[in-house]
Amino acid sequence: MNDADALVDPKQVDIVYETDEPVTYEVVDRVAWIMMNRPGFNNAQNGQMTYALDDAFTRATNDDDVRCIVLGGNGKHFSAGHDIGTPGRDLHRPFENRLMVPGHVNKPAAELLYTREKEQYVGMCRRWRDVAKPTIAMVQGACVAGGLMLAWVCDLIVATDDAFFQDPVNRMGIPGVEYFAHAYELPPRVAKEFLLLGERMTAQRAEQFGMVNRIVSRDQLRETVAGMAAKLVAQPRLGNWLTKQAINHVEELMGKRNAMEAQYHMHHFAHAQNDLTSTNSLGGLDAKSMASANKRQAGD
Ligand code: ZN
Repeated sequence: MNDADALVDPKQVDIVYETDEPVTYEVVDRVAWIMMNRPGFNNAQNGQMTYALDDAFTRATNDDDVRCIVLGGNGKHFSAGHDIGTPGRDLHRPFENRLMVPGHVNKPAAELLYTREKEQYVGMCRRWRDVAKPTIAMVQGACVAGGLMLAWVCDLIVATDDAFFQDPVNRMGIPGVEYFAHAYELPPRVAKEFLLLGERMTAQRAEQFGMVNRIVSRDQLRETVAGMAAKLVAQPRLGNWLTKQAINHVEELMGKRNAMEAQYHMHHFAHAQNDLTSTNSLGGLDAKSMASANKRQAGD
């Protein structure tokens, strides 16, 4: 098993990207608007998008004129989660890793996914959460599984009245997505319900627990977020940075990173168990079977 190429399934390298621009970036009135741009696939996150997001956060960080960052998704939904079934799913594409994590594509068995998710999922999310400027997530429609991770790394979350939040991966035998902030975003018993039942949580219920800051209609979403961003732009730059760090530090004192590390290893134990007992690391499920199970559960 020393031959790296032998470890790559040829089917998996047959990647068809539908766009060269999986993320759009624009600066308006000192606010960087970072928008996921795979609306045809409900902004499913592939590696191409992850690195484009990281490029956008880096660009916004390095531009002194930018004082606030907004993260949203073009189209009907914020994000349906990690890409587990589009033609652009690029599980086996190598990227230039940025977090002192080695490349994943030539790694055998469980090491491949463990390495990839350390860089692309939990590593990137932590990096964006700690960006030195205030961030606002702008959430409409679905915010599911990997989508939660992107909303949760932001300092503030504005959701539409038809937004919903869901982490259904217990259906795959997996204890939640990789950036395990569930019990920090929700009270523990509610987090258990959210994970164990895997049901959709409405924006209204999420707001009751403080997971969402504001709820607006779709036609007010951009305007509301722009108004909040304008206030942040007018605040002192260093103050914004220190204030968000102060709260992030409180979360660390509450053990957030340690909790995530513990869950990361359970998460990968579950992936490995799935690989041993089913047809893939997702318990034999894929985007299609997850979508139909979700529909059955929602009674659609
Ligand atoms: Zn995973």
